[in-house]
Amino acid sequence: MNSIDRYAVIGSGIGHSRSPQIHALFAKATRQAMEYGLLDAPPVAFQTVVRKFFREGGRGLNVTVPHKQAALRLADTHTPRAQRAGAVNTLASAANGKLLGDNTDGAGLVRDLTVNLDCTLRGARVLLLGAGGAARGVIAPLLEAGVASLSVCNRHGVRAKKLAQEFADLGPVTAVPADDSTAAGRAHIRDDAGYDVIVNATSASLRGELPQIPAYAVGTQTLAYDLAYGERDTVFMHWARSAGAARAVMGLGMLVEQAAESFLLWRGVRPDTAPVLAALRSPT
Ligand code: NDP
Repeated sequence: MNSIDRYAVIGSGIGHSRSPQIHALFAKATRQAMEYGLLDAPPVAFQTVVRKFFREGGRGLNVTVPHKQAALRLADTHTPRAQRAGAVNTLASAANGKLLGDNTDGAGLVRDLTVNLDCTLRGARVLLLGAGGAARGVIAPLLEAGVASLSVCNRHGVRAKKLAQEFADLGPVTAVPADDSTAAGRAHIRDDAGYDVIVNATSASLRGELPQIPAYAVGTQTLAYDLAYGERDTVFMHWARSAGAARAVMGLGMLVEQAAESFLLWRGVRPDTAPVLAALRSPT
């Protein structure tokens, strides 16, 4: 049995994941004796790999695409935010041998927006692009942050409608069409001012594509935030800047902040994220 506490990220096709680097930096800074690895597993192997990891003494896993819903089903108990999101991105072994499922994605996004980017969410008009797993995870935390309105816009509009209905009990969330054909979306913004924040939670950036976005969405005060991250600015970021947005940023800060939330759950200490984010951004 390994004496050092073991953690890992599990996903499919995650050879380039930055999570091992992030958690190694957290562990060093907080003087935690732990190791953090990488488990590449296709959906068919997910359950077997996870069970083996914990049976052999593993303490916690980060869960990424495409396993977040499978992780929800596998966990024995869930935090309220994981239950609400309908997805799990963090698994932890509890003292009774049970598996706890949490979701730290939304908290990570809100913290990056409010703390790192100094963006005021209270009273903000927010457009959320996408209705997949990531979008599900961020809706409740954005509503809890006190946004004035949350408009969900998706390529397949019916998915946006379903999501908006599912979270309507938590606050002002509605679905808006992706095109300009109706005035439905405009009702949520001040005249010609655009949204205060546009969050791109589609996976379009991963293929270098731009989701359809209502033309009225961008104003000169708009912060455009792409959940995707990489070496270079995304198509969405380029589009937002050319459409006149005040700022366009990628989701590296969210990645680091959601990792810090997972680290807190596992180790009981919240690492300082600023130096880690700076290290990730500095050219190697
Ligand atoms: P899903 O596969 O669950 O959902 C994908 C969504 O993107 C769907 O709403 C889909 O629309 C939409 N979409 C895909 N391609 C296009 C396109 N060409 N045009 C318009 N819409 C499109 O993915 P996830 O929700 O899990 O992930 C979304 C993104 O968020 C990924 O880039 C992922 O890397 C990123 N992410 C980043 C995190 C971070 O920490 N920074 C954390 C979690 C996720 P439809 O329903 O119509 O098919």
